Order: sequence, then C-alpha cells, then structure tokens
Amino acid sequence: MDTIEQRSYCIIGELLFLCFVKCDPYIGKKSKFTEREKGNFRLNSKGMRHIFWLILLLFLSEACTNKVQLSRDELIEQKVDSVLSLMTVKEKIGQLNLLTSNWDVTGPTIRKDYEDLICQGNVGSIFNAYTVAYVSRLQKIAVEETRLKIPLLFGYDVIHGHRTIFPIPLGQSCSWDMDAIELSDRIAATEATALGLTWNFGPMVDITRDPRWGRIMEGAGEDTYLGSMIARARVRGFQGKSLSDTSTMLACVKHYAAYGAVQAGRDYSTVDMSEITLRNVYLPPFKAAVEENVATVMTSFNELNGIPASADKFLIDEVLRKEWGFKGFVVTDYTSMEEMILHGYAEDAKQAGLLAMQAGVDVDMQDLIYVNYLPELLNEKKVSIEQLDKAVKRVLRQKFALGLFDDPFRYCSETREKQVIYAKPHLDAARDMARKSMVLLKNENQMLPLQSKGKKIALIGPLGGSKHDVLGSWRAAGEDKMAISLLQALKERQGVEINYSKGCDINSIDKSGFAEAISAARQADVVILALGESAEMSGEASCRTNLNLPGVQSDLLKAIAETGKPIVLVLMNGRPLVLKDDVQYPDAILETWFAGTQAGYAICDVLWGNYNPSGKLTVTFPRSVGQIPLFYNMKNSGRPLSESKFTSKYLDESNSPLFPFGYGLSYTSFKYSDLTMDKQEYDFNEDINITVNVENTGKYDGEEVVQLYVQDVVGSITRPVKELKGFKKVNILSGQSQLVSFTLTSDDLAFYNSEMNFKAEAGKFKIYVGTNSQDVLETSFVLK
Ligand code: BGC
Repeated sequence: MDTIEQRSYCIIGELLFLCFVKCDPYIGKKSKFTEREKGNFRLNSKGMRHIFWLILLLFLSEACTNKVQLSRDELIEQKVDSVLSLMTVKEKIGQLNLLTSNWDVTGPTIRKDYEDLICQGNVGSIFNAYTVAYVSRLQKIAVEETRLKIPLLFGYDVIHGHRTIFPIPLGQSCSWDMDAIELSDRIAATEATALGLTWNFGPMVDITRDPRWGRIMEGAGEDTYLGSMIARARVRGFQGKSLSDTSTMLACVKHYAAYGAVQAGRDYSTVDMSEITLRNVYLPPFKAAVEENVATVMTSFNELNGIPASADKFLIDEVLRKEWGFKGFVVTDYTSMEEMILHGYAEDAKQAGLLAMQAGVDVDMQDLIYVNYLPELLNEKKVSIEQLDKAVKRVLRQKFALGLFDDPFRYCSETREKQVIYAKPHLDAARDMARKSMVLLKNENQMLPLQSKGKKIALIGPLGGSKHDVLGSWRAAGEDKMAISLLQALKERQGVEINYSKGCDINSIDKSGFAEAISAARQADVVILALGESAEMSGEASCRTNLNLPGVQSDLLKAIAETGKPIVLVLMNGRPLVLKDDVQYPDAILETWFAGTQAGYAICDVLWGNYNPSGKLTVTFPRSVGQIPLFYNMKNSGRPLSESKFTSKYLDESNSPLFPFGYGLSYTSFKYSDLTMDKQEYDFNEDINITVNVENTGKYDGEEVVQLYVQDVVGSITRPVKELKGFKKVNILSGQSQLVSFTLTSDDLAFYNSEMNFKAEAGKFKIYVGTNSQDVLETSFVLK
C-alpha cells in the first residue's frame, strides 16, 4: 500500500514538475523564440497552465484522500471505541452472538424468539438469510428497534457461487488457474452482496488426503503449496480491494484447524498429529489467508491432539493472533462450543463458553452460550471486561470496515439484485471455469474430441439428465431450474441426434432399466455415459467407505461395453472415486466433478473440442480404499517397495495410485526435454534458476500445467519424496516449443523442523519437472 501510494505521489510530482517547466520555457533561460513562436507558445502554455492547475488539484485531493486512507484504521478505531463506551455488558455480549434463520420450502424464516433477541440487542449477526427484502426486514429491526442501532452482519456459505454456481472447489482447483478462481469468487461475492449478504463462510482451505471424507469437495485437494495459493486467490476474490466496496464481503477462512485429517475420513472425528505435520501441511493455507488480510476465521469441529479446536488457545491465541498477527475475529463452527461437552472437554455449557473465551474465540455460532453464560462468568471474574471488549471491538471493526454504520442498507438494493443475478458475464465465467476444471483421465485412440457432425449419440446414465446434481453440495442459493444438464446441452447442440436412457438410478440395485439403455446404445454411433455420485454423497456429513461408482452403475457400464460401441464416460462426483475395475471399459473418461450452473454446455465444449482440456488432478485417485491415505508427497520408508518380501507394500494391491496428483491429459501431447539449472551449487541467498523445454507435439493447440517438484534428500527430520514448489500454466501452439523457467529461493525450501523453526537446510536437493507428479525429468543441486 505504502509503495503504491509513494509511487503515485512520485508520478503526480513528476507530472507537476514537467508541466511547470513546460508552462514557462523562459524559466532560467534566455529566450531564443521569435514573438510569433512566443505567441503560439503562450497559447500552448495557457493550455498547459490549465493542466497544471488541474493536476495540482488532483494532487491535493489525492493527498487528502490518502491522508484519510492512511488514518482510516485510526478513524475506525476511534468510532469503535466511542460505540463501545456506550454499550452495556449485555449489548456487548449480543455482538458476539450469531444465529441462523430457519428455512422452509418458500425461503428463510426467522424464529419469533430470534426476532425478539435482535430487538433486545442480543444478536450481532444472522446467517442463512438473504434477498434484499428479507435482509432489509431483519436489518430494520436491528437499526430501528434496538437501543444502539448497531447493524447486523449477514453470513452465508457462498462456497462456489451464490446464484450462478461454479464447479465445486475441488473441481476448480484442478484448473490450476488462480485468476479464474479469484474471478469466480469475485462473481460469487458480487451476487451474494447484491442479495444483502456481508459475510461469507469461506474459503474452506482444509488440506485433505482422505477421499472418504465428504468435505474433500469443498477444498483444494491434497497439496499445501497449491492450497495456499488458492486460499489467497479466494480471499482476494471475496474481499476485493476494499471492504467498503458494496460488491465485497468479509471472507472467513475455515475450518481452523486440521479438520481435513479426521481419523478414518469420518466427519467431525478426532485429529491427532505432530506439530511438525500441522505446521508443514495443514496450517500454511490459513497463514496465507491471514497474509492476504482475511477478515474472519472459523474454528473447526474436530479436536486436535486432545483439545477441541474452539478451545485451542495454542491455535487461536498463540499461532493465529500472536505469531501471524491476525487482526480480524474468530467464530466457532455451528454449535461447536456446546460440543465440547460431548468431546469430554467441558463439564457443561458454561465451562465450554469459558474455555472458548479463554482460547480467543470472539463469536459464538448458534450455541447462545456467550449470551447465556458470559454475564455470570464476568461476575465471577473468570472472564474480564477487557477480554470481552477485545472481542466486541474485533466485530465492530468489521462492521465499520463494511460501511454498515454509515448505511446499514447499503447492501440492499433491489435494482442491483435484479441486475447482477445470473448476469451474462457471470454465466460465461462459470462456463469457462467449468471447462478449465475438467480432467481428461483417458483418451484411447484419440476417441475425443468427437466429430462435429453426423453422430447418433446415446446418452445413458442417471446423471445425464440431472439439473440438480450438477450443482453439487454447498450450492448456496443455486437453483436447479437454472442449471444446464448434459441432456439439455446435447439437445441444443446442432448436428447431433440424441437418445437418452437413464439405465439405473444413482444408488439403487434395480437393473430394470438396463435393457432399454442397451438398446439405445446399439442404435448409436457413440455412447456418452454419465455416471457418478449424487450431489448429496459428498459435502458435510457425507463420508463413504466404498468409493466405487454407487449402486449398479459399474454393471451398467459393463453391460453397455458389451455392445462394442465406443464409450465416453463422463464422471460427476465430489471426490476421487475408486475406478480400478471400471477404467478398462470406456474409450475416454472425462472427470467433470459437479460443474455448476453451466455444466452441460461446458461438458459439450470439451467433448467436441471447442475447449481442449487442461485440468490436472489436485488429489490422488487410489486403486482401492485400502490404500488411503494415499498422496503424492508421502515419505520414504527404510524399506521402500521392491521385489523382496520385507518391504513396504500390500499383498493384494500395488502401492501406486490409479491416477496420480497432477495428472490430466490434453487432446494434444507435450514433450519435456532439456531440464537445466544455471548452477550446481547455490548459496542460501542466491536465486535457483531452472528451465525446461516443453514442446507441443500433437495436432491441437493446448494448455499445459508444467509442474516443479523438489525433494530435500537428507534433512534434520525426514522430508517427503516430492513437494510441489512451482507450476506454470502455458499455452503452446501445435508444433511449437516453449522454454519454461522457474526461480526458487532458499525460502521455498524451508520447512518447520523439530524446534519449530522455519528454515531451509544445506545439502542435496532433487528437482523434478513434468506433466504430473510421476512423469518427470530429474536433476539436482546442492544448497551450501
Ligand atoms: C459447517 C460450516 C458452515 C456452517 C454454517 C457448519 O455445519 O461446518 O462449514 O459454515 O455450518 O452453515
């Protein structure tokens, strides 16, 4: 900020100087001009003088704005203090209370007793309430019927779009495209704020290596480096450049922390891990979000090493606030305070509230524990008024930052609501993001792209006609009726004759639809099989132990394969599936995840080659559930896999994944060569430069995600076999080559050691560059 301001001052200063000098050419010089030239010049110089005054004005107003901007935080601080000084203890506690509205078929409704609580100043924020009409109604209660008229925050889970739904976050991460991801959240925030929302319960940045866990669909996959970059892009997307802009909202990075590592992939379960793993793998995306100025943080449901996250002083107070300097507020996850009792960590709700307060939790989601017990805890001097004030100030600051005290209804404009929802650019961006998210897993004999004309297509499978499932879990205010199913897109596609047969349901044992599906396949030139999970099979509380295609879908695939017709398998699912037995049957497999409102169009764009797929997996696809957790950056054992019996392996399955991290095909092919480094040995303060040549050897132009991995060969603690440390998404024309370069510094090689110091260690490093985490070229260097 400072540097940008300084730079703008310099530029304005330079312009002023130039104008000033040009205005009067006589300054400091003897005139060499004739009278006529002088006359012309005077004319010009008159014009220049105008410009001078204009720029001077601009400069002064700029300087004033900057002054205001520089002191904006101080100004907010003063206002926060003055509001705080007017508040009773009860009103203060009210600011720490977050309640949900209820939902019924026609939309959200709030319980009468909640409305009363708002009137009494007992509520600081509401969630699950949107639309201008509804938000205005509740805000009106807060600013007209409460004593201090403090506006409410309105929160919601805007996880992958608000009305215009983008692909599920796991899908988006496979684009490896930070601009596109940022844009998708910018659009989500634009739509959400147009419906009155000011606080998003996202991004979810939990690293997970367990596809059984249903919430894997909400995150960016298994990798910490990529996950941290995506966390940053998402915070920027939601919060924009300034929270005072009405198209931006508070972001809330969640779930703090290590929720993605729940035992056995079962939601809400226990997490037990070393601090080394916590700091090196699970915390970095949160830290990145804090560096990006995320406004709020949500604690997780799980306990970590014996302490429920909402009571974890180490996580909240020490790491988040003291170590990382987080300035926003911390909110619990839904009733996670009360859940401390069942965790066996608090005797009762009152103690749970005390533990949360002591840990540094500011806002209580849906427990009403702060409202009910903080007064007593204050009287008993177990919680101090200073502690309470700190928490209240953190909430008020954000309300001021959003401009809600100036105008509590500034996010409530019906005109804007009508204008932005499903706006054309939003739908276009959703389609583009959907195409970028898709991963081509198989393409035998260049089955894809399909020929543009004269094809009789049989669309088979329970997901072919679904407008519901394509929106995935956590679809915010997305509406099925607006979604484009694959069937609809195919029907709209010119030159295609389409015959649809469902074949079976997603998760049933009924095969009575097989005969019709087989007959449809027989009459077709090509079969598109749309198989996978229902939207509800992933997301919160949606864990699975069997990751096969549900129900009888694998049998359907096999039955269709027996017709001998070419098959394109279009997968829709919220997690990696175990496809080991299925993978042999289709000629091509396209992983489309749950691709959002524009799903059908985007899938057709890829199938017919209007878009050449470039997505790469951000999570490993295992061969069997028994391999889980399976991820690319595991550690070596002392007995790595070999033919000999006593090595690290299974008797009944190989160690390798079905599809590794970073994997994804294109309609063209890329050849990697000439991996070079500028030196073999580097000092700690030197840049490490790496280049590789990538050639597009196929007949289509295409994008490739060039991936750079590092292995620290010997460390003071053992290090993973590979770690992603860089990537570049490049567009290479058919037949052309591109030199792709990377620069690492020793900071990129740093990690938390057993003393919890974050630093790089001298020694040998291996460098791998390639098209996925397995197919790589290799070189090495020494850090001295
Ligand atoms: C989820 C959170 C979510 C909250 C509010 C909880 O059940 O874990 O991710 O933000 O509900 O909807």
